[in-house]
Amino acid sequence: MDKINNKSLLSILCEHGDDALAIDNPADGSVVGYIPVQSESEIDECIEKSRLAQKSWQKRTAKERSSLLYRWYELVMENQADLARLMTLEQGKPLPESVGEVAYGASFIQWFAEEGKRAYGMTIPGHTEDKRLMTIKQPVGVTAAITPWNFPIAMITRKAAPALAAGCSFIVKPANQTPLSAYAVVELARQAGIPEDVLQVVVHQSPETVGDLFTHHPTIRKLSFTGSTRVGRHLIAQSAETIKNTSMELGGNAPFIVFDDADIDQAVQGAMASKFRNAGQTCVCANRFYVHDEIYDQFVSQFIEAVKGLKVGNGLEAGVQIGPVIDSLAKERILEKVNLAVEQGATVATGGKALNGCFVEPTVLTGVQQSMSFIQEELFGPVAPIVRFNTDEELIQQANDTIYGLAAYFYSRDITRIWKIAESLEYGMVGINEGIISTELAPFGGVKQSGFGREGGQEGLEEYLETKYLCFGGIH
Ligand code: NAP
Repeated sequence: MDKINNKSLLSILCEHGDDALAIDNPADGSVVGYIPVQSESEIDECIEKSRLAQKSWQKRTAKERSSLLYRWYELVMENQADLARLMTLEQGKPLPESVGEVAYGASFIQWFAEEGKRAYGMTIPGHTEDKRLMTIKQPVGVTAAITPWNFPIAMITRKAAPALAAGCSFIVKPANQTPLSAYAVVELARQAGIPEDVLQVVVHQSPETVGDLFTHHPTIRKLSFTGSTRVGRHLIAQSAETIKNTSMELGGNAPFIVFDDADIDQAVQGAMASKFRNAGQTCVCANRFYVHDEIYDQFVSQFIEAVKGLKVGNGLEAGVQIGPVIDSLAKERILEKVNLAVEQGATVATGGKALNGCFVEPTVLTGVQQSMSFIQEELFGPVAPIVRFNTDEELIQQANDTIYGLAAYFYSRDITRIWKIAESLEYGMVGINEGIISTELAPFGGVKQSGFGREGGQEGLEEYLETKYLCFGGIH
């Protein structure tokens, strides 16, 4: 913490009361900072404050809201180095990745500062001579969000920026392992002039309690969740009682496919970026590789060489590419899956072992078959299982053989095949000769049990708007 320069950020991260939540550094187990937790009644008060604040926030012009968001964006970028350091301390990802996430998170604020001014309705030809019809867009209202630890800033700004731009107020419950980044980014919003009650953070020891409060509270009109499919399913069920508008960004099981006509060097580069970013802990990380028989040996040997060259360590050390996984439980789960794969007949081609602390060796598994049960699960770690395939038909069947439908990737240079495969993959996002696809400019989201709703792009604003139809009669 000694190297955090912005003193106002530092002070909010060190409040040390009896009920404070201690935040650990996954790289060495040390305590990074403390965050106060709220009681249930305090969270209730936050919801009431949010209700009142939303009324006046909605009345401001889109242009006024845009100016405040734009200032927030500038402050996030001005504090990029501090925010990144804080993120690496509480989350573990290598510092250059944290620097990248701060910019990525900020890009949503910038984008929605613009998009908020374009919440257009339309005029519709009337159905009788005396009628004039139109639609207007209005904010959904008080919005709550629950976000995960793997992108401690971007998963918040991807929701908060469009909500605020649309005229909603916003309360976020960040993951209990990474609330420091959440508090820091919200503190910068305050410094930008966004009213305190319009954008709030709540932290509580029990996520279930916050989930119950958010889903059952009639004041909250929308719940936006990013996290596991298991918790998302539960929140959808709980939201049924109040018929809440929900958006769900859930788990993934991304196939990464290399066809026989692919540029192998490019495919290896894309595979490394897609698989090992954030130590494999992203919802869009390649989770299983399918490599065509004809180029299997060449791709696999180049890929293994690249994986062997990865530097594992504390994310603050120069040159580190793979930081710790989030905690010891995550490490155990990853290693259990590797052991299960080996029991089922896979071979560890490189890695496969636990390292001291919360570190896992970057691992490649070969000889993997579609029938192995672990291939149906999200690995969420630096482990790459490789399946060999022969025909496009077999490949499509295997790639779609999952409950998930978030991201998929493939490498090919044949334009007919590219179109056919892109259209056949049952996923919300497809990377074609590209392993990194996220940007604020495009709609991010999944199909099947990866959820519904889109973040970013034009669609991102719509999630926080209602369409109201106005029918003007008696115009003779
Ligand atoms: P998680 O266990 O579902 O947790 C996500 C958030 O939900 C955390 O804030 C957590 O709080 C909270 N939570 C847990 N149980 C809850 C409950 N019963 N009621 C209400 N809230 C609850 O997921 P995770 O392991 O942190 O994150 C990894 C998952 O997120 C993966 O499946 C990944 O694919 C998915 N993800 C999806 C996207 C996307 O855009 N589709 C992006 C990133 C991650 P605590 O932290 O306090 O436990």
